[in-house]
Amino acid sequence: MSLLDIHVLGSPILRQETARVEQITPELRRLVDDMFDTMEAAKGVGLAAPQVGRGERLAVVDADDARLVVINPEIVQKQGGIVRGEEGCLSIPEVYADVDRFATITVRAQDIDGAWYEVEASGLLGRCLQHEIDHLHGKLFTDRLSLLKKRAAMRDWEEEKVKYPKLLRVLPVGDLPPERDAASSR
Ligand code: ZN
Repeated sequence: MSLLDIHVLGSPILRQETARVEQITPELRRLVDDMFDTMEAAKGVGLAAPQVGRGERLAVVDADDARLVVINPEIVQKQGGIVRGEEGCLSIPEVYADVDRFATITVRAQDIDGAWYEVEASGLLGRCLQHEIDHLHGKLFTDRLSLLKKRAAMRDWEEEKVKYPKLLRVLPVGDLPPERDAASSR
């Protein structure tokens, strides 16, 4: 188990399209475990592969009591209109803004064993999945803001980004979550 460094706004990988995962290897399973640990240590509710410098189309989320890995996820249905809610991003620390998202979505994705499943999500989970799927296509929540709001968010970021001269956010080891038991750490 290890914590991964998080790429922050300005790192080119956050703008790249990801590549479809064709095979679930032991290395990929380790990546997913490390992403869950990193997300927890950073107190986030979602983390996408590009945020840890990887090009695979996968993300992890832990919101509304759902702990999911989504591999090759796709939004197959959008319902219930648009809802506005506050978002932040582990790659843009200390910047928050209201973002419009679909109220309810259905996501089709593969799990860690490669099996396809569908999940219908609204509330925080639905918002989080939309945010992470955006990441997998090089898109950040700030891209969805009006010009005025985006300008305000970028002003906040100007002050914050000096803390990350290498465009990497290194989590302190003290933030390592306690070892989970064998059954839940698979
Ligand atoms: Zn994010």
